[in-house]
Amino acid sequence: MKVIVVGGVAAGMSFAARARRLNEDAQIIVLERGEYVSFANCGLPYFVGGEITDPDRLLVQTPQKLRDALNLDVRVRHEVTAVDTQAQTVTIQTPSGPTTETYDVLFLAPGAEAMRLPIPGIDSDRVLTLRTVDDARQMRAQVEAGIKRAIVLGAGFIGLEAAEALAQTGVDVTVVELADHVLPPLEVEVAHPVQDELGRLGIKTHLGVAASAIRPGVDSDTVVLADGTELQADLICLSAGVVPATAPFAAAGIETVRGAIVVDERGRTSAPNVYAAGDAVTSTDQITGEVRPVALAGPANRAGRLIADFVMRGEAARPLPRPLGTAIVRVGRLTAAMTGANRAALERNHIAHTTLHLHPNQHAGYFPGASQISLVVHIGEDGRLLGAQAVGEEGVDKRIDVLATAIRAQLHVEDLIDLDLSYSPPYGQAKDAVNLIGMVGANVLDGTLRLWYPAQYEEVAQSSLILDTRSRAEYETGYLPGSLNIPHTELRDRLDEVRGAASGRPVRVLCASGVRSAIAHRLLTQSGFDSASLSGGITSLRQYLGKRADTVIKV
Ligand SMILES: Cc1cc2nc3c(=O)[nH]c(=O)nc-3n(C[C@H](O)[C@H](O)[C@H](O)COP(=O)(O)OP(=O)(O)OC[C@H]3O[C@@H](n4cnc5c(N)ncnc54)[C@H](O)[C@@H]3O)c2cc1C
Repeated sequence: MKVIVVGGVAAGMSFAARARRLNEDAQIIVLERGEYVSFANCGLPYFVGGEITDPDRLLVQTPQKLRDALNLDVRVRHEVTAVDTQAQTVTIQTPSGPTTETYDVLFLAPGAEAMRLPIPGIDSDRVLTLRTVDDARQMRAQVEAGIKRAIVLGAGFIGLEAAEALAQTGVDVTVVELADHVLPPLEVEVAHPVQDELGRLGIKTHLGVAASAIRPGVDSDTVVLADGTELQADLICLSAGVVPATAPFAAAGIETVRGAIVVDERGRTSAPNVYAAGDAVTSTDQITGEVRPVALAGPANRAGRLIADFVMRGEAARPLPRPLGTAIVRVGRLTAAMTGANRAALERNHIAHTTLHLHPNQHAGYFPGASQISLVVHIGEDGRLLGAQAVGEEGVDKRIDVLATAIRAQLHVEDLIDLDLSYSPPYGQAKDAVNLIGMVGANVLDGTLRLWYPAQYEEVAQSSLILDTRSRAEYETGYLPGSLNIPHTELRDRLDEVRGAASGRPVRVLCASGVRSAIAHRLLTQSGFDSASLSGGITSLRQYLGKRADTVIKV
């Protein structure tokens, strides 16, 4: 069997290595158009920022090591420019000219390329992308040459990693993002704390505005924004999304959707004996059923391995799972992460859901270093877990990974109550944050707890009495105008006061994080009030409002 692999990094190399482990006799040729194979693209920002000092550490494998260990024929600077799916041949541009190879099995893992914004000046020499080891070296060289100002176009995961890296070197960094908040796949209440953290790192942001032109200059370029703002840049990092690198394969008649190769649950493309995986292919989302590319390293590596199983072992192999899009990013002191569907995807697909906001400590409150994790969790009407996001200083990765596992296992929110998670004071709480999600969710599902939401604050202020159950000292640090402050410990004795102030209107309760207001809600409900508790309390309201919090919440 002669196997040709196109693309020698995540999916491609996982496929090739697994194929060899399963079949010692196959001829396996890996064709990579770049200089390196099996490099750590996820590590590139940390080399730019100086946390990884030796660029060789980004090179996980070399062609020689792969030949020695796995008898793989790895050819760098070999770009596949055409495929004949009838004759089963590929045309390759090599340093010594074009050539062809036949194949019995063709595995396509060409990944994606940075999206070129269609704006004047985008081809300026000062515009760099961060996709390859050479890109990272070039960016690092600019930093070492003493550049002063960098503009990052796009505030996605890679854009913010690049922004933080550049800021760490002392460069003055500005991020421009078309969406109205950074990290657009995250909920606004998770993204706003990250925005604040960027400010603390000295990184400026221009949000809700597009870059409309780049004017190349002698000493620096000018980036012109759609609102007329002009920003000077010595370096422009283009990270406004990616497009699948599939032109030669689409030209060969292999089916694509918006540039991404269409594959089935075995990684089969529309052409016989041609398989594909990674950033270049479509996948079907586990929660929404949406068909879209998922540009993440984990799914790419695992898909390469599973498809090799299918090619070498046939139907006995497991089919490809549907991805959840679990992703994580560090920004300064904070970590933000997500798994499963976000609110926009649920709404787009008309999936009825309830949202929970929690702010538990990452470990026992009495143990030094306790800090809050802000969690946003979406559950279906039947309690099925649909998606979760978190932001905080510590423990975010652990909770999102447990929730990703729970979603993959199709657990319901009540099941989280029973998860037997490791605990001692430096690591967690006897009721871990994940157990608490289960308890709050179960309360919501059975009607013990009724929630209102940060997004409803204006209509609630018009229609209801807002009852703030925090202490007087907390209330004075910031309150909603027109709200009544009765600390939850006094509420039992002051129900008449609430009745009078509400004068027939519903009572909408809040506290700092939703714990005390839930207690108050139970008391009010059992005393005949129409009551609901603010999901996540004033902490979530502040996170939802972001900069607007200063005008809405009075002191
Ligand atoms: C800076 C950066 C940071 C990232 N951080 C993370 C992270 O923290 N977590 C995460 O999950 N994901 C991260 N990713 C995404 C992750 O790296 C990708 O999802 C993953 O590498 C995709 O694997 P792939 O095999 O599809 O493509 P790639 O790993 O990109 O490999 C594709 C290879 O194919 C080659 N190629 C393309 N066309 C041809 C052709 N015609 N002929 C021959 N060779 C070709 C390319 O040169 C490339 O080397 C990051 C990506 C970048 C760029």
